[in-house]
Amino acid sequence: MHKIKVEDKEFEIFLENDTISKRIRLMGIQINVDYEGRCPLFIGILNGSFLFMADLIKEINVPCEIAFTRVASYEGTSSSGKVKELIGLSEDIEGRDVIIVEDIVDTGLTLTHIIKTIKEKKPASLKVSSLLLKPTALKYEIEELDYIGFEIPNEFVVGYGLDYNGLGRNLTDIYRATES
Ligand code: 5GP
Repeated sequence: MHKIKVEDKEFEIFLENDTISKRIRLMGIQINVDYEGRCPLFIGILNGSFLFMADLIKEINVPCEIAFTRVASYEGTSSSGKVKELIGLSEDIEGRDVIIVEDIVDTGLTLTHIIKTIKEKKPASLKVSSLLLKPTALKYEIEELDYIGFEIPNEFVVGYGLDYNGLGRNLTDIYRATES
């Protein structure tokens, strides 16, 4: 089995790039069908989604626009707890058909915040495309989660944009931690 080390942690091969590419091609076809005659705005959530966005967008053949945003978390008041804010998003979202592009959905907390913030900007429609989903870790119901690349077990993964302590985003395949 193909094993690598990222910093102090050992990982083994999980999804090869070829498998990822084939799946993204199918996701693109589905989006092309669903958005025929429209001009969706793809919003990638940085940093993890940059490779997925690059490959997904190459499969899209309807007119489309691309933007990126980053989720900043900071401690709010005791009543609000951790506040999450989207930064760097200057595009006009009102009336647009928005597709959020995420790398991975774990508990779904991050995505729930992102969806709430984008909905406040009154898009015409809102869907989510996530390369990975951990169904057994999911704690929030997210009805906008229409395009999923792979459902994976509740294990830590790295590569293809996903990091471990900032490292491993450049790996073309996705690896999973051999121990937690
Ligand atoms: P959630 O809010 O859904 O619990 O967590 C989502 C975020 O946690 C992702 O955007 C990602 O940054 C991080 N995350 C969750 N699971 C993994 C994983 O297995 N590997 C990596 N590299 N990041 C993860």
